Amino acid sequence: MWKFADLIEEHVEELAALDALDAGKVYLRAKTAEIPGAAEFLRFFAGAADKIHGEVLKMSSELQGYTLREPVGVVGHIIPWNFPTTMFFMKVSPALAAGCTMIVKPAEQTPLTALYYAHLAKLAGIPDGVLNVVPGFGPTAGAAICSHMDIDYVCFTGSTDVGRLVMQAAAASNLKQVSLELGGKSPLLIFDDADLDTAADVALLGNLYNKGEICVASSRVFVQEGIYDKFEKKLLEKAKAWLVGDPFDPTVRQGPQISERHFDRILSYIEHGKREGATLLTGGKPIGDKGYYIEPTIFTNVKEDMIIAKEEIFGPVMALMKFKTVEEAIKSANNTQYGLAAGIVTKDLNVANTVSRSIRAGIIWINCYFGFSMDCPYGGYKMSGFGREYGLESLYKYLQIKSVVTPIYNSPW
Ligand code: NAD
Repeated sequence: MWKFADLIEEHVEELAALDALDAGKVYLRAKTAEIPGAAEFLRFFAGAADKIHGEVLKMSSELQGYTLREPVGVVGHIIPWNFPTTMFFMKVSPALAAGCTMIVKPAEQTPLTALYYAHLAKLAGIPDGVLNVVPGFGPTAGAAICSHMDIDYVCFTGSTDVGRLVMQAAAASNLKQVSLELGGKSPLLIFDDADLDTAADVALLGNLYNKGEICVASSRVFVQEGIYDKFEKKLLEKAKAWLVGDPFDPTVRQGPQISERHFDRILSYIEHGKREGATLLTGGKPIGDKGYYIEPTIFTNVKEDMIIAKEEIFGPVMALMKFKTVEEAIKSANNTQYGLAAGIVTKDLNVANTVSRSIRAGIIWINCYFGFSMDCPYGGYKMSGFGREYGLESLYKYLQIKSVVTPIYNSPW
């Protein structure tokens, strides 16, 4: 795993270029953050691999007992197209450290870096058969993994609809274990005392990073009424300076959407927003007539029952709503079938503490967004799924506990 990490760093430029070509990633960001992050995942979990142990138990009868943590077996990793590298290593690194063998199915839109990683794994000396990359379509290759009788665990990231199919196939085959990282419609709550610059930066990043194709996007932004108007002005000013274009241009912050199908889907949500009576503050249109570029889009006067406030758009589209009290903000934040993430912008510790404990979501960011760290677990509540990625939590998911028991005396148990 250490050698694998070194090889990734040696090939950072080719890998970043492949993710830029395949997924429309901003090249500079891929080169300086996402690809180096892959090496970091491998090293973090390589460091944990020799610290896996069971426990000696205090048995209540005259028995001696201890537990072993054993690899769960053969794992199927099914990953989406929005983070081809990060998703690959957040799943593969802990599974390798746990001692599992695995089949990785990258998304059909973005198989290139996954194939390159398979090649580097071989160069690193990972034995044949341990890490297998099988590109293919969901209903064929993906479904085959979910219903396979010799696969012991499926770790899936993707849409909530496909997550259901994964569970059904697991139940109908060998009852393999499943973890699901699914969709989201995460809230960002901005309180009256917030620093306006920080609040606008957090909101923009939360919605436009990776062209909005990110499961934890803060696509519902609730702003307290006292600063609503000032915030809207600041946000507009900053959105106008957000550069969209060729992902190989170092000044660009937003590349093209993943595919024509997805591009059309985002534009149809924008049309829904207009039809339902939300006000378009900025954006709403494609950019140019070549490639799938969409303007950073902000709707104001959004109501919680509008489609754009309820469904995951997975694009650069933000919905702004107003609230009065802390209680109202908590209620609105929880008014969703999803529970992946949430953000809070405030200087008031009491508000931050109360709200973070009251929102049903797997990760809460205070005065920041996308604060990911290798050792900080994240995952879903409610219909955003279950199981955790990152951190030692994700290592334990690939281990199962076996108890070993023996009499202390020669008693005839
Ligand atoms: P998707 O569910 O269509 O596809 C995800 C993966 O599942 C792909 O590899 C696909 O080939 C495979 N797949 C499709 N049908 C399958 C089937 N019947 N059986 C097995 N596998 C199948 O999702 P997508 O469009 O690729 O990605 C977007 C969705 O993923 C969004 O809803 C987003 O929120 C979610 N997502 C979640 C997280 C998270 O961590 N929670 C991260 C990224 C994306």
